[in-house]
Amino acid sequence: MDNKSDPSTLETYGQVVLTWISRYLREVEGRPIRSDVAPGTILEQLPPRAPEKPESYEEIIGDLDRIIAPGLTHWHSPGWFAYFPSNTSVPSILADLAAAGMGQQGMLWATSPACTELEMVMLNWLVELLDLPRDWRTDGTGGGVIQTTASDATHLALVVARQKARVRTSIEKMVVYASNQAHSSIEKGARIAGYEHIRLIDVDETFAMCSRALRTAIMADKASGLLPVFVNATVGSTGTAALDPLLEIGKIASEYKMWFHVDAAYAGTAMMCPEYRRYQEGVEYADSYVFNPHKWMGVGFDCSCFYVKDRKPLIDTLGIVPSYLRSDANRAETVVDYRDWQVALGRRFRALKIWFVLRAHGAEALRAMVRRHVSLARAFGDWVDGHPCLVRIAPVSLALVSFRHVDGNNATQLLVDTINASEHSFVTPATLKGEAYIRVSIGQMGTQAEHVERLKSLIDGSLYSRNHSG
Ligand SMILES: *Cc1c(COP(=O)(O)O)cnc(C)c1O
Repeated sequence: MDNKSDPSTLETYGQVVLTWISRYLREVEGRPIRSDVAPGTILEQLPPRAPEKPESYEEIIGDLDRIIAPGLTHWHSPGWFAYFPSNTSVPSILADLAAAGMGQQGMLWATSPACTELEMVMLNWLVELLDLPRDWRTDGTGGGVIQTTASDATHLALVVARQKARVRTSIEKMVVYASNQAHSSIEKGARIAGYEHIRLIDVDETFAMCSRALRTAIMADKASGLLPVFVNATVGSTGTAALDPLLEIGKIASEYKMWFHVDAAYAGTAMMCPEYRRYQEGVEYADSYVFNPHKWMGVGFDCSCFYVKDRKPLIDTLGIVPSYLRSDANRAETVVDYRDWQVALGRRFRALKIWFVLRAHGAEALRAMVRRHVSLARAFGDWVDGHPCLVRIAPVSLALVSFRHVDGNNATQLLVDTINASEHSFVTPATLKGEAYIRVSIGQMGTQAEHVERLKSLIDGSLYSRNHSG
């Protein structure tokens, strides 16, 4: 190795990279949100083979601006109203940098006691912060673990449920239930886990799962000799942030001895605020639960928190201990080895960014951010309601507003195109029952009233010019 990996180099070029990031975040608002590169643009600028000889850091870091920046989509622009947010924040960046420097592998307690124990405490902090059941704490019967994504967590829940049900029947007879608004990760996870029967249950007029329809489907399946095994409920669906009735679904799950999984990937963060906790009434019935600090909480991707009510079936399903991974500590069963809580063996130090974010901002500021976003969304929803050309297609739920143009799909798509062509505001179009609509998700950390005002003028301008163009 040449001196490129000399630790002192980090001080010189670390500073250059930090300055680059700081400038990026300061200037991101002024950049067109969507990259305008044609497919292959980045690809063409990269050599076909890795270099044999060292290159200078000046050249390498310079290519961030030359090659990489033009191909970035700016998720951290305050005009970001697309998908859901994927926020990062300065404390999260600092923690990730520190974690990169430490290069820990936290697969066992013994391979990084700090990585394991900080994660246990952070997951306990989040139980308290979101008012989740106390027996989910690592010092209770359950526990929490950081997974890469909500999709991974849901897949895992499906695998554990399948393993638990194996004593009762075989996989061909097991049935999984979710609403027809559930995230695609339920269906994907079920398929990977080997389930053959997945029922997508009807929803009510707010797009929440209809628990009567769930019961009817369960009874029909039982009558034909199948075994209901798993039901997913969503707090804050991806399409419209619909809120499934956890209490009703949880009771049905316990009546039929099914595994009850709650997907609160987006909405979990809002549970920091007591006024939204009615949306998770019944969460105590859940066998497993997932929420993504990497969406709305300001903890950079990837960080998805997965909880189980009882850790034993999880560890029974995933625990494998080859001799070279035995340590005195895990033999004595006195510690948590997170390897047994996930598919992968290795794991990086992700708890550090939760720790930095919660300490640097404090829970009060994070709550204030959620409340600001929700109140901006409500005001925007009111504006939509008063607008002659627009109709809401679902209740404003948390910080998501779903609406369309009164004239239908083409007019709605035109509106999306105009908004997204503006470069400073970005929305995602979606469809429900064949009807196109626009999702305005307000949740970027920097989004303020002025950014929503700008979006409103953009919509008005587009509608006005259309009305006056013959
Ligand atoms: C975003 C989202 C997911 C998927 O999240 P990943 O962490 O990207 O896998 C799952 N469920 C819901 C409700 C979501 O909004």
